[in-house]
Amino acid sequence: MKKVSIIVPCYNEEKMIELFYVESVKITNKIEGYEFEYILINDGSKDDTLKTIKYLSKEHKNIKYISFSRNFGKEAAILAGLKNFNGDYAIIMDADLQHPPRLIIDMIEKVEEGYESVSTKRIDRSGESKLRGLFSKLFFRFLNKISDIPIVEGATDFRIMSKQMVDSVLDLTEYHRFSKGIFEWVGYDTYWIEYVSEDRVLGETKWSYIGLFKYAMEGIIAFSTTPLRLSSIIGVIISIISFIYFIITLLQTLIFGKDLPGYASTICLISFLGGIQLVALGIIGEYLARTYMQVKRRPNYIVKEQSKK
Ligand code: UDP
Ligand code: MG
Repeated sequence: MKKVSIIVPCYNEEKMIELFYVESVKITNKIEGYEFEYILINDGSKDDTLKTIKYLSKEHKNIKYISFSRNFGKEAAILAGLKNFNGDYAIIMDADLQHPPRLIIDMIEKVEEGYESVSTKRIDRSGESKLRGLFSKLFFRFLNKISDIPIVEGATDFRIMSKQMVDSVLDLTEYHRFSKGIFEWVGYDTYWIEYVSEDRVLGETKWSYIGLFKYAMEGIIAFSTTPLRLSSIIGVIISIISFIYFIITLLQTLIFGKDLPGYASTICLISFLGGIQLVALGIIGEYLARTYMQVKRRPNYIVKEQSKK
């Protein structure tokens, strides 16, 4: 019997957990030759998620749990799950049933064929707002333009990975974790399953537009240094233009003599260059801040309690 651990980050999911378990067990019970275990991570929920998880864990012997001391974010929860996994395959899955459990059957099938990893991507975003879908599309396009590793558009965190791949993922000890990128970065043969996204069954999404923007920034900064190079490119272009302008001004002065006007253009140039310099500084700052956090070597999460299984 091969052992599969299903890792589920949970933040304020009291309404979903039990339903999630019931629905996934219906599927996993059908799969023969594999033993399924659930690792539920309570990411500092403010509702009764922990209580529900503990109750479920008492009732069912295949449920383990880890509970954080506060909310550390989904990436930290995924990391905790992977660190505590010791089976043959790990599945990462959301608690809200937006990741359809029926896909686990296809995942196992592909893994049997020899793939180290099977991942999913959404091909339709009817389950979420148009604007969010548009931003997400733009983000993937932009990230792929500037980063060295391709990140599949519409990729979700719902995937299965072999023990070997999980070990490689854990070898990456970066503090700011952007899993979608990390999973691509480590390589291995991945099979992609497409699915149509569904509405969250109960509860609500934890992502605000600001949250998503920050997440997008993490992705870009973690997997590309192009923004850092941008200032040198802009600098070179502006220097060339300035030099040409210098020659023109010199010739004008030599031929037509001195004259004073130029207030408007001077002000425009000063503010334009000032703006560009601040943006460049800001970009350096973003990278420096992450270097700073990495150097501090703080843990990604703190476990307050966990099941004894
Ligand atoms: N989640 C988490 N910590 C957080 C935010 C979310 O563990 O700080 C979990 C959440 O409980 C869910 C999954 O991450 O299982 C995805 O969250 P959500 O459904 O809110 O995201 P969306 O599907 O809207 O992208
Ligand atoms: Mg969701």
